[in-house]
Amino acid sequence: MIGDASRADQSLARARQLDAVTFEVELARRAWANQAGGEDEIQRRRESVIKRLGGVAVAAPERIDVWKLLAEYLRHLGNHEGVLRATASGLKRDPVNVDLWVRRVKAQIELGQLVSAARSLKHACVVSPTHDSVEALIRVHPLCAACGALFPTSGADTCANCGADGPGRGAAVRSVRSRHQSKFDIYFPRVRDVLAEALDMPDHIKKRLTLDTLLKRHLKRTNQQCARVLRAMSNEFGSAFDHELFKSAVVGYLDLLISDLIRAINPRDDKTIDTGIRRRAMYGTGA
Ligand SMILES: [Zn+2]
Repeated sequence: MIGDASRADQSLARARQLDAVTFEVELARRAWANQAGGEDEIQRRRESVIKRLGGVAVAAPERIDVWKLLAEYLRHLGNHEGVLRATASGLKRDPVNVDLWVRRVKAQIELGQLVSAARSLKHACVVSPTHDSVEALIRVHPLCAACGALFPTSGADTCANCGADGPGRGAAVRSVRSRHQSKFDIYFPRVRDVLAEALDMPDHIKKRLTLDTLLKRHLKRTNQQCARVLRAMSNEFGSAFDHELFKSAVVGYLDLLISDLIRAINPRDDKTIDTGIRRRAMYGTGA
C-alpha cells in the first residue's frame, strides 16, 4: 500500500507539470482505484469520479484519452447508455479510433442493439482489420445469416433480432469480415500511413482519413504530389504490383491514383503481409 501511494504521488507530481486535463485524469484514476471505505462509499466515490471526468471530457473534447477512460469507467458501473454517449463524442473527433469502436460494440451488445453492434464492428474492422480486440470480437460474435445482426455469443441458439436459428443449433453464420472486407479495406491502413508520410500530413488530418473520405472525393493534387505518392507506394509495395495495372494508374487525381494502385496490388506477390491478411485479401474469407 505504501509503495502504491508513493508511486501515485510521483505520477501526480508528474501530471501537475503537464497540463490540467492530464492532471484531472491522474486524479480520476487515483480516486477510482481507492478501495477505502465500505462498498457504498466506493460506489459513491466512483460515481463522482465519472461525473467530474464527464465535465473534463466536455471541456476538452479533443482529448480522446478522456473519452476512452470515461467509457471504461461507465462500463464498470454497468452504464452502457453512458458508454454509447461517450464513444459517440470521442468518435466524432477521431472516427478511426479502434479502441472507441470496440468499446461501442461491447456496449451495444450489452444493450441488445445487435444490428447496430454489427455495423460498429464492421467499422472497427475497416479501421483496423488486424487489431487484437477486433479479431477477438469477430471470433466471438458471428453474424446472423438471415438478418445480419450480431450474435451475442458464438454458441447462441437463436438470433435475438429475428429469431432465426443460431450457431448453437447448427445454423450457418457469417463473419463481419467475410461479408464486408475487400482488398481495399485490408490494405487501407497501410496505404494511409504511406500517404500521410509522403504528403507530410499532420497527425490529426491523417486520423480523419478513412477509405470513404479518401475515395469518395475528387482530391486534385499537383502532379508533383501525385508523383511523390506514386514513389512512396512503389517503395512500399514494389514487386507486389501487377505490372499492367500499375502502368495504367491515373496520375492527377489522388483518389483515382490511390484506388488504381490498391487495385494493382497482387496479394499473392506481396511478401510483406502476414499470411492471415494475405488469405483474406485473396479469398475474402474470415480468419
Ligand atoms: Zn437474425
